[in-house]
Amino acid sequence: TLRPAPLPEDSAAENDRALRPQGLGEFIGQAEARANLRVFIESARRRGEAMDHTLFHGPPGLGKTTLAQIVARELGVNFRMTSGPVLAKAGDLAAILTNLEARDVLFIDEIHRLNPAVEEVLYPAMEDFELDLVIGEGPAARTVRIELQPFTLVGATTRMGLLTTPLRDRFGIPTRLQFYTIDELFEIVSRNARKLGAPADDDGAREIARRARGTPRIAGRLLRRVVDFAVVEGDGTITRDLADGALTRLGVDQLGLDGADRRYLRMIAENYGGGPVGIETMSAALSESRDALEEVIEPYLLQQGLIQRTPRGRMLAHKAWEHLGMRPPRTQGD
Ligand code: ADP
Repeated sequence: TLRPAPLPEDSAAENDRALRPQGLGEFIGQAEARANLRVFIESARRRGEAMDHTLFHGPPGLGKTTLAQIVARELGVNFRMTSGPVLAKAGDLAAILTNLEARDVLFIDEIHRLNPAVEEVLYPAMEDFELDLVIGEGPAARTVRIELQPFTLVGATTRMGLLTTPLRDRFGIPTRLQFYTIDELFEIVSRNARKLGAPADDDGAREIARRARGTPRIAGRLLRRVVDFAVVEGDGTITRDLADGALTRLGVDQLGLDGADRRYLRMIAENYGGGPVGIETMSAALSESRDALEEVIEPYLLQQGLIQRTPRGRMLAHKAWEHLGMRPPRTQGD
């Protein structure tokens, strides 16, 4: 599995729909991406054309899907959604493309996982809004060309590096999403707490924000669990003490790391003397797929300065030793 399945609470649809920002103005964070999108959306609207194809890349849970939906809503067009692994055959994609109305947004999640035959169909569709379909087999096979309505492809990927060059080059608007700051997550948590009818005082909301791994999806998930504790064991209000107690019981530590993060760090510390250790070795030692390590676990640890990537593998940084309450072996010298 390249990407952990969304946890049930993410798709607890009712809740999620209520919390999902609906317009660009409601979307918190990603200031640069938002400012640019505002221009591209406005320009497409004024010209009455489809917006250029857009690629969102960055770790899971940062708002790629949400932004794609917002783009469609702001353009005033339909939003169609699929994903790389779901499109097994060229015909699957063709069926979707031929059903698009003019200027619609087609969102393809995990676009780095498109099968090559499907990707081939996408090239002329993106470039000239044309489909070249092969009908029949063997000597009787022939190609028919189908004109498509102009549309906007919005692709999302956690792994920019896995996109083929021809596909990457066909996106006019590549946008990298960043981890959120604590202040941004604080705003998201406060707003969502209000929407959930569970008042959070500022310190309580900040505590959740601080421990959400820079990720709105995680902030939302932690908030829901803290609300559970507030309702059952508190008076329904989210205070700092309550949040701290709940998060600690959920295994989320002071830096916001969870059990999987700590297992990763401890493995390097205890079994490999702090590294460097190669990704394949780590993958085998932890029984985690290499992709899960590279997409889900490592980006935040890197961003926090807990690990470093070197040509010879991953190394623990000083901050990680401190966090684990361990001392680096003397040979590591920093
Ligand atoms: P991705 O597609 O990058 O994995 P999603 O768009 O599915 O991420 O977002 C994950 C969750 O986080 C959703 O529930 C969404 O409502 C919430 N979310 C993402 N970005 C924001 C934001 N900027 N403000 C508020 N909520 C957000």
